[in-house]
Amino acid sequence: MEKGSVPVAEENVFGSVVQFSSLDRLLDLCRANSLWPMTFGLACCAIEMMAAGASRFDLARFGAEVFRPSPRQSDVMIVSGTVNKKMAPAVQTLYDQMPEPKWVIAMGNCAISGGPFVYEGQYGIVEGVDKLFPVDVYIPGCPPRPEALIEGILKLEEKLTGKRRWPVVTPPPLPGPAAAREASAQAAPQSDNDTDAPLAMEVNGHVA
Ligand code: SF4
Repeated sequence: MEKGSVPVAEENVFGSVVQFSSLDRLLDLCRANSLWPMTFGLACCAIEMMAAGASRFDLARFGAEVFRPSPRQSDVMIVSGTVNKKMAPAVQTLYDQMPEPKWVIAMGNCAISGGPFVYEGQYGIVEGVDKLFPVDVYIPGCPPRPEALIEGILKLEEKLTGKRRWPVVTPPPLPGPAAAREASAQAAPQSDNDTDAPLAMEVNGHVA
Protein backbone atom coordinates (compact mmCIF):
# COMPACT_ATOMS: atom_id res chain seq x y z
CA MET A 1 0.00 0.00 0.00
CA GLU A 2 1.38 3.40 -0.95
CA LYS A 3 2.21 5.89 1.77
CA GLY A 4 -0.82 8.04 2.59
CA SER A 5 -3.28 5.92 0.60
CA VAL A 6 -6.72 5.00 2.00
CA PRO A 7 -7.07 1.40 3.32
CA VAL A 8 -9.08 -0.77 0.97
CA ALA A 9 -12.47 -1.56 2.52
CA GLU A 10 -12.84 -4.95 0.79
CA GLU A 11 -10.05 -6.38 2.96
CA ASN A 12 -12.43 -6.70 5.93
CA VAL A 13 -15.79 -7.37 4.34
CA PHE A 14 -17.90 -8.95 7.09
CA GLY A 15 -20.60 -10.05 4.64
CA SER A 16 -18.22 -12.41 2.86
CA VAL A 17 -18.06 -14.53 6.05
CA VAL A 18 -21.67 -14.27 7.27
CA GLN A 19 -24.34 -14.82 4.63
CA PHE A 20 -27.98 -13.80 5.06
CA SER A 21 -29.25 -15.75 2.10
CA SER A 22 -32.85 -16.16 3.35
CA LEU A 23 -33.08 -12.48 4.21
CA ASP A 24 -31.54 -11.57 0.86
CA ARG A 25 -34.10 -13.68 -0.97
CA LEU A 26 -36.92 -12.06 0.98
CA LEU A 27 -35.57 -8.58 0.22
CA ASP A 28 -35.19 -9.46 -3.46
CA LEU A 29 -38.80 -10.63 -3.52
CA CYS A 30 -39.92 -7.36 -1.92
CA ARG A 31 -37.83 -5.30 -4.35
CA ALA A 32 -39.11 -7.23 -7.37
CA ASN A 33 -42.74 -6.63 -6.38
CA SER A 34 -42.37 -2.94 -5.63
CA LEU A 35 -40.14 -1.49 -8.33
CA TRP A 36 -40.18 2.31 -8.37
CA PRO A 37 -39.31 3.66 -11.82
CA MET A 38 -38.05 7.20 -12.25
CA THR A 39 -40.33 9.74 -13.96
CA PHE A 40 -38.11 10.26 -16.91
CA GLY A 41 -38.62 10.18 -20.67
CA LEU A 42 -36.48 11.26 -23.58
CA ALA A 43 -38.50 10.86 -26.79
CA CYS A 44 -41.42 9.06 -28.45
CA CYS A 45 -40.89 5.79 -26.54
CA ALA A 46 -41.80 7.72 -23.38
CA ILE A 47 -45.38 8.03 -24.68
CA GLU A 48 -45.64 4.24 -24.70
CA MET A 49 -44.17 4.17 -21.20
CA MET A 50 -46.86 6.62 -20.04
CA ALA A 51 -49.52 4.45 -21.70
CA ALA A 52 -48.22 1.44 -19.76
CA GLY A 53 -48.95 3.29 -16.53
CA ALA A 54 -52.44 4.42 -17.58
CA SER A 55 -55.71 2.58 -17.08
CA ARG A 56 -55.77 0.39 -20.20
CA PHE A 57 -52.50 -1.42 -19.48
CA ASP A 58 -52.34 -0.67 -15.76
CA LEU A 59 -48.76 -1.27 -14.72
CA ALA A 60 -50.02 -1.19 -11.12
CA ARG A 61 -51.04 -4.83 -11.55
CA PHE A 62 -47.34 -5.67 -11.40
CA GLY A 63 -46.36 -3.32 -8.60
CA ALA A 64 -44.27 -0.94 -10.73
CA GLU A 65 -46.60 2.02 -11.17
CA VAL A 66 -45.13 4.34 -8.54
CA PHE A 67 -43.14 6.59 -10.85
CA ARG A 68 -41.01 8.75 -8.56
CA PRO A 69 -40.16 12.39 -9.27
CA SER A 70 -36.65 12.09 -7.84
CA PRO A 71 -33.78 9.73 -8.71
CA ARG A 72 -33.07 9.40 -5.00
CA GLN A 73 -36.44 7.67 -4.53
CA SER A 74 -36.17 5.42 -7.60
CA ASP A 75 -34.66 2.02 -8.15
CA VAL A 76 -35.41 1.55 -11.88
CA MET A 77 -34.42 3.85 -14.71
CA ILE A 78 -36.44 3.22 -17.87
CA VAL A 79 -34.45 4.88 -20.65
CA SER A 80 -37.28 5.51 -23.11
CA GLY A 81 -36.02 7.47 -26.06
CA THR A 82 -33.03 8.82 -27.90
CA VAL A 83 -29.97 9.67 -25.83
CA ASN A 84 -28.09 12.42 -27.61
CA LYS A 85 -24.59 13.42 -26.63
CA LYS A 86 -25.77 16.73 -25.22
CA MET A 87 -28.20 14.95 -22.91
CA ALA A 88 -25.86 12.09 -21.95
CA PRO A 89 -24.16 13.88 -18.99
CA ALA A 90 -27.59 14.65 -17.48
CA VAL A 91 -28.71 11.03 -17.91
CA GLN A 92 -25.46 9.86 -16.32
CA THR A 93 -25.99 12.24 -13.37
CA LEU A 94 -29.53 10.93 -12.82
CA TYR A 95 -28.21 7.36 -12.82
CA ASP A 96 -25.45 8.26 -10.37
CA GLN A 97 -27.98 9.90 -8.03
CA MET A 98 -30.09 6.74 -7.76
CA PRO A 99 -29.31 4.73 -4.62
CA GLU A 100 -28.15 1.12 -4.80
CA PRO A 101 -29.49 -1.37 -5.64
CA LYS A 102 -30.68 0.01 -8.98
CA TRP A 103 -31.56 -1.36 -12.38
CA VAL A 104 -31.83 -0.02 -15.91
CA ILE A 105 -34.24 -0.91 -18.70
CA ALA A 106 -33.32 0.22 -22.23
CA MET A 107 -36.70 0.73 -23.88
CA GLY A 108 -36.72 1.00 -27.66
CA ASN A 109 -34.17 0.82 -30.41
CA CYS A 110 -32.81 4.31 -29.70
CA ALA A 111 -31.88 3.42 -26.13
CA ILE A 112 -30.50 0.05 -27.23
CA SER A 113 -28.38 1.10 -30.16
CA GLY A 114 -29.27 4.59 -31.41
CA GLY A 115 -32.17 3.24 -33.48
CA PRO A 116 -33.05 5.03 -36.72
CA PHE A 117 -30.56 7.82 -36.04
CA VAL A 118 -27.50 5.67 -36.66
CA TYR A 119 -25.92 6.33 -40.03
CA GLU A 120 -22.45 6.91 -41.31
CA GLY A 121 -21.14 10.23 -40.13
CA GLN A 122 -23.71 10.87 -37.41
CA TYR A 123 -22.19 12.77 -34.53
CA GLY A 124 -25.02 13.62 -32.14
CA ILE A 125 -26.42 10.33 -30.80
CA VAL A 126 -25.14 7.91 -28.16
CA GLU A 127 -25.41 4.55 -29.90
CA GLY A 128 -26.77 2.63 -26.93
CA VAL A 129 -27.25 3.78 -23.35
CA ASP A 130 -25.13 0.82 -22.21
CA LYS A 131 -22.16 2.90 -23.30
CA LEU A 132 -22.93 5.11 -20.27
CA PHE A 133 -23.90 2.56 -17.57
CA PRO A 134 -24.95 -1.12 -17.29
CA VAL A 135 -28.32 -2.16 -18.66
CA ASP A 136 -30.30 -5.07 -17.20
CA VAL A 137 -33.15 -5.51 -19.70
CA TYR A 138 -33.39 -4.54 -23.37
CA ILE A 139 -36.82 -4.04 -24.98
CA PRO A 140 -36.58 -3.81 -28.79
CA GLY A 141 -39.05 -1.92 -30.95
CA CYS A 142 -39.61 1.51 -32.45
CA PRO A 143 -41.48 2.09 -30.28
CA PRO A 144 -42.14 -1.03 -28.17
CA ARG A 145 -45.78 -1.36 -27.18
CA PRO A 146 -46.81 -0.97 -23.52
CA GLU A 147 -47.19 -4.75 -23.27
CA ALA A 148 -43.53 -5.06 -24.23
CA LEU A 149 -42.54 -2.73 -21.40
CA ILE A 150 -44.62 -4.79 -18.98
CA GLU A 151 -42.87 -7.93 -20.24
CA GLY A 152 -39.52 -6.17 -19.69
CA ILE A 153 -40.50 -5.39 -16.10
CA LEU A 154 -41.50 -9.02 -15.58
CA LYS A 155 -38.09 -10.02 -16.96
CA LEU A 156 -36.45 -7.70 -14.46
CA GLU A 157 -38.51 -9.23 -11.64
CA GLU A 158 -37.37 -12.65 -12.84
CA LYS A 159 -33.77 -11.47 -12.79
CA LEU A 160 -34.17 -10.30 -9.19
CA THR A 161 -35.89 -13.35 -7.77
CA GLY A 162 -34.72 -16.10 -10.13
CA LYS A 163 -38.36 -17.06 -10.70
CA ARG A 164 -41.01 -16.16 -13.26
CA ARG A 165 -44.10 -14.90 -11.44
CA TRP A 166 -46.40 -14.77 -14.48
CA PRO A 167 -46.79 -17.16 -17.43
CA VAL A 168 -45.11 -16.27 -20.71
CA VAL A 169 -47.70 -15.37 -23.32
CA THR A 170 -46.70 -16.47 -26.82
CA PRO A 171 -48.55 -14.50 -29.50
CA PRO A 172 -49.96 -16.43 -32.47
CA PRO A 173 -47.70 -16.28 -35.57
CA LEU A 174 -48.43 -13.44 -37.95
CA PRO A 175 -49.70 -14.58 -41.35
CA GLY A 176 -46.82 -14.50 -43.84
CA PRO A 177 -47.00 -14.35 -47.66
CA ALA A 178 -47.60 -18.10 -47.95
CA ALA A 179 -50.47 -18.04 -45.44
CA ALA A 180 -52.01 -14.98 -47.14
CA ARG A 181 -51.77 -16.69 -50.52
CA GLU A 182 -53.41 -19.82 -49.16
CA ALA A 183 -56.20 -17.85 -47.48
CA SER A 184 -56.87 -15.85 -50.66
CA ALA A 185 -56.85 -18.99 -52.77
CA GLN A 186 -59.46 -20.56 -50.51
CA ALA A 187 -61.63 -17.42 -50.48
CA ALA A 188 -61.68 -16.66 -54.22
CA PRO A 189 -62.65 -19.05 -57.01
CA GLN A 190 -59.73 -19.54 -59.39
CA SER A 191 -59.85 -19.32 -63.15
CA ASP A 192 -57.40 -21.13 -65.41
CA ASN A 193 -55.43 -18.04 -66.31
CA ASP A 194 -54.75 -16.51 -62.92
CA THR A 195 -53.32 -19.42 -60.96
CA ASP A 196 -49.78 -18.07 -61.23
CA ALA A 197 -50.69 -14.48 -60.37
CA PRO A 198 -49.33 -13.31 -57.01
CA LEU A 199 -52.12 -12.89 -54.48
CA ALA A 200 -49.93 -11.06 -51.98
CA MET A 201 -47.09 -8.68 -52.52
CA GLU A 202 -44.23 -8.41 -50.06
CA VAL A 203 -42.68 -4.98 -49.67
CA ASN A 204 -39.83 -4.70 -47.17
CA GLY A 205 -41.09 -7.73 -45.32
CA HIS A 206 -44.72 -6.52 -45.15
CA VAL A 207 -47.58 -8.16 -47.00
CA ALA A 208 -49.49 -5.63 -49.12
S1 SF4 B 1 -37.00 3.86 -30.78
FE1 SF4 B 1 -38.36 4.84 -32.28
S2 SF4 B 1 -40.17 5.43 -31.08
FE2 SF4 B 1 -38.49 5.04 -29.61
S3 SF4 B 1 -37.53 7.04 -29.26
FE3 SF4 B 1 -36.42 6.03 -30.93
S4 SF4 B 1 -37.41 6.80 -32.82
FE4 SF4 B 1 -38.80 7.22 -31.10
